[in-house]
Amino acid sequence: MHELAITQDMIELVREHAEKAGARKVGRINLVVGELTGFVGECVQFYFDHMTKGTIMEDAELTFKTIPTTGRCRECSKEFEVKEMDWTCPSCKSSSIELVGGNELFVESIEVEEHGNKGS
Ligand SMILES: [Zn+2]
Repeated sequence: MHELAITQDMIELVREHAEKAGARKVGRINLVVGELTGFVGECVQFYFDHMTKGTIMEDAELTFKTIPTTGRCRECSKEFEVKEMDWTCPSCKSSSIELVGGNELFVESIEVEEHGNKGS
């Protein structure tokens, strides 16, 4: 259930940003999520909805951008998408591969409403 801890961290982070921006309301939170994190967006949305009741994030929408697992060959520097955990370079067949994408998990941006309009 690491989604719960992630959601808590995310809410803290968004709250900090929103306060700095003088936001009245958070409209959207854009997250970048690597495939390898095993992160379940629906779980996060579920926790998020419960944990933000009565806050400026209450009606915020979460969007998830998924980053595929990506490797870079140490022999020929080719970058490629790793499918079914096949860590072999498609170009030179080397198995000396460095992970360059897929472990990401961060808040890319948030969209806030700064003025007026308290919403419906
Ligand atoms: Zn290669």
